[in-house]
Amino acid sequence: MHRRSLLALPALLLPGTLRAQTAALPVVASFTILADMAREIGGERVAVRAIAGPDADAHHFQPRPSDAAALRGAAVLIRNGLGFDGWADRMARAANWRGRTVTATEGITPRMVVGGHAHGHSHGRPGQPSPDPHAWQDLSLGRRYAAAIAAGLSAADGDGAAYYAARAAAYDARLAALDAEVRAAIGTVPEARRVVVTSHDAFGYFGAAYGVRFLAPAGVSTTAEPSAQQVARLIRLIREQDVTALFMENMANPANLRRIAAETGVAIGGRLYADSLSPPDGPAPTYEAMFRHNVGLLVPAMRGRAA
Ligand code: ZN
Repeated sequence: MHRRSLLALPALLLPGTLRAQTAALPVVASFTILADMAREIGGERVAVRAIAGPDADAHHFQPRPSDAAALRGAAVLIRNGLGFDGWADRMARAANWRGRTVTATEGITPRMVVGGHAHGHSHGRPGQPSPDPHAWQDLSLGRRYAAAIAAGLSAADGDGAAYYAARAAAYDARLAALDAEVRAAIGTVPEARRVVVTSHDAFGYFGAAYGVRFLAPAGVSTTAEPSAQQVARLIRLIREQDVTALFMENMANPANLRRIAAETGVAIGGRLYADSLSPPDGPAPTYEAMFRHNVGLLVPAMRGRAA
């Protein structure tokens, strides 16, 4: 029976034979995007904590003792995988944690990237291809994440299986509609103008899914500053490729982007959310809001110069 509709009844009508309200399933997610998905699917049956919180750098996160304590009390750990959040695995091992681990990218064939992959926990060697972990930036893959999370919650809390399935179906329908919305919005920009520079190469999946070319000054690293030579090369690239928009990702040092903007005249278009959500009162507090925010910045910026 649908739990939410039951709870909507006046208390007097609730028969005394209903099972007692169980405590919420404690769930830990490595970072905010996974936590948001777990809340969307888990609703009132789950209590979700993101370890790397809003605006945190989940690539290089250092868990605190309070995070390990939260994990020890959790029934489910949701991780991205693909080398993104290996620190969460190490934390689980260190805590000798025995709960259920959900890998959101399970079964997803990753994009491979060569060189410059500096997410801190990659086992790739320089010059060797390694998986790009940012698969959530393609909504069709985000739907796969949601399905994996729904399956994990149901496995951990069988009584809630129908509840999770209903919420997951509604969420999936919203993500499918959003995917179409993003595709239509990007489609209003002439293909030749869809060339964007970001500070951190987190949009490879987005670019492949929606037909936007992203160039990044520092490969996929969130920490290593590009050398003066790399910046100079990028400036040449911006001129040669007629780049239309330049964006600061929410975690990287903007100094190099400012230099590039000054030397090329390309305007800095704002702040795209890539690897973390904003706090609740910010512009990207949910996975869905993150896409709407990013597309809302990208489309006018890419179209801008033609106007
Ligand atoms: Zn990243």
